[in-house]
Amino acid sequence: MAMNPHPAGQIDLNVPLEVGVERRGLQHKYRPTALFFPAQGQTCHAYCTYCFRWAQFVGLDDLKFAAREAETLVDYLARHREVSDVLFTGGDPLVMRASVLRRYVEPLLRADLPHLAHIRFGTKALAYWPARLLTDPDAAARGSA
Ligand code: SF4
Repeated sequence: MAMNPHPAGQIDLNVPLEVGVERRGLQHKYRPTALFFPAQGQTCHAYCTYCFRWAQFVGLDDLKFAAREAETLVDYLARHREVSDVLFTGGDPLVMRASVLRRYVEPLLRADLPHLAHIRFGTKALAYWPARLLTDPDAAARGSA
């Protein structure tokens, strides 16, 4: 805890608190952008010495930002029309198999969210594990997701 696991007040300032419920798998700091932390994406291809997300992948669940339900995200976005971008982050969301990724992305595509313009992925897979997008068995599906 002395290593400041979530710097810049991420828990107190960025995690939405609605009707008394903390949305621990979401962060909403910048008005147009909501960050989503899919539970299965909370590890990384790299372990950079400067990483400020280290608390996501040291095996301490209480420290993690993580969500399993895409519905939580869809619900939140339906009530926050100012959000134009969803950023999947981690860890690295592209550690997830395409079939798991699809469970999170497709509900967003199906939902009535006309204000949602971009679905983004914070990933270093291109540099650290290009096979994920080129030659892995589900590479084509992941690329199209
Ligand atoms: S790639 Fe990003 S999330 Fe992964 S260890 Fe490095 S800084 Fe952290």
